[in-house]
Amino acid sequence: MEKKNIDWSNIGFGYMPTDYRYVSMYQNGSWDEGVLTSDPNITLNECACVLQYAQTCFEGLKAYTTEDGHIVTFRPDLNGERMENSAKGLEMPPFPKERFVDAITKVVEANAAFVPPYGSGATLYIRPYMFGYDSIIGVKPANIYQFRVFCTPVGPYFKGGAKPITIRVSDFDRAAPHGTGHIKAGLNYAMSLHAIVDAHKNGFDENIYLDPQTRTKIEETGGANVIFITKDGKLVTPKSNSILPSITRRSILQVARDYLGMETEEREIYLDEVKDFAECGLCGTAAVISPVGKIVDHGKEICFPAGMEKMGPVTQKLYETLTGIQMGHIKAPEGWIHVIK
Ligand SMILES: *Cc1c(COP(=O)(O)O)cnc(C)c1O
Repeated sequence: MEKKNIDWSNIGFGYMPTDYRYVSMYQNGSWDEGVLTSDPNITLNECACVLQYAQTCFEGLKAYTTEDGHIVTFRPDLNGERMENSAKGLEMPPFPKERFVDAITKVVEANAAFVPPYGSGATLYIRPYMFGYDSIIGVKPANIYQFRVFCTPVGPYFKGGAKPITIRVSDFDRAAPHGTGHIKAGLNYAMSLHAIVDAHKNGFDENIYLDPQTRTKIEETGGANVIFITKDGKLVTPKSNSILPSITRRSILQVARDYLGMETEEREIYLDEVKDFAECGLCGTAAVISPVGKIVDHGKEICFPAGMEKMGPVTQKLYETLTGIQMGHIKAPEGWIHVIK
C-alpha cells in the first residue's frame, strides 16, 4: 500500500479529509448494518435535535504504526464502552461496543494510506460520534440517530519535546454535581470554550477546574485528567464522579503499579495540598502526558520542582513506559493493543 504524499512531521492538529468514513443510522428501534462512504458532508434538517438541543457525544483515539510495521489502536474496546455510557446519559441508543471496534477497524483499514509511518511522531486521529438526527422542537430525545467515524492525520503533539505548561485555577465550573461531567458529551466542551479563550487571553495554557460543589478539590482540565506525584514517589489522582474516566489515566495507573512498582491512590485531592506534590501531569489520548510546571491560583503560584524546562523524572518514566507499550517496544498487558493490519 502506498502512503499519501504528506509531510508527516509537519502537519498540525487540524482536520484533513481522508478517503473514507463510516456511517450507521438508527431508525425504528435498530441500527442498520453501516457503510463506508467517501462523502465527508452531512445534510441535516434545520430543526435536527443535535442543532437545537446538543444531543451528541463523541470519542477520540489514535491509530499508529508500530516499529514492526503493524497498524494498531490502543484499547478501543474502552472507548466503545465509554461511548455506550455517554449515549445512555443523553438518552441516545448505545451503538454496541463490539460494532464500535469493528467500525474503527474498517475506517482505519480503508484509510491505511493516511496512517503516518513509524517514527514520524504523527498519528491518525479517529473521531467516532453520534447525534440526534431528526427534527425535534419540543424538548425530547430524537427518534433517528446517526453514528459516524472519520479520521484525520495529526502531527506530533509536542513539536520539539514536551515543555511544561502553566495552568490556572478556573473560576468557571466544568460540570455540575450529578451532571454530565463523567460522559463525553459535546455540551461539556461548548461550555469550556469561553473559559479556555479567557485563559489564553490571560496567558495561561489551560484551566484546571475545581469540584463544583465546594470549590476546594481538584477535578480535571477541559480535556485531560490530572495526575500528581508525591515527594515519596506515589501517584495520586482525583476521585470524583464528575470527571471523565480517561483511558490514558486508567492505563497510567496500571503501568505505575505493574511496570514501575509504584503505589497509586485515587482519592479526593484538595487544592490546598497541591503545593506539597513533586510533579503534575495532564493525561489524555492526544498528548499521553503533558507535564504541568506551574498552577496559578488567583495570583498565587504553585511551582513544581522539575521547573519549566522538562518533565519531572517520574512523569518521564511513566510517559516512556506507556508510549513504549503503545509502540510495541515493551510487552503490553493482554488486550491493550488492537492490531488492524
Ligand atoms: C476525552 C477526555 C479526557 C481524556 O480521555 P482519554 O480517554 O485518555 O483520551 C479527559 N478529560 C475529558 C474532559 C475528556 O473529554
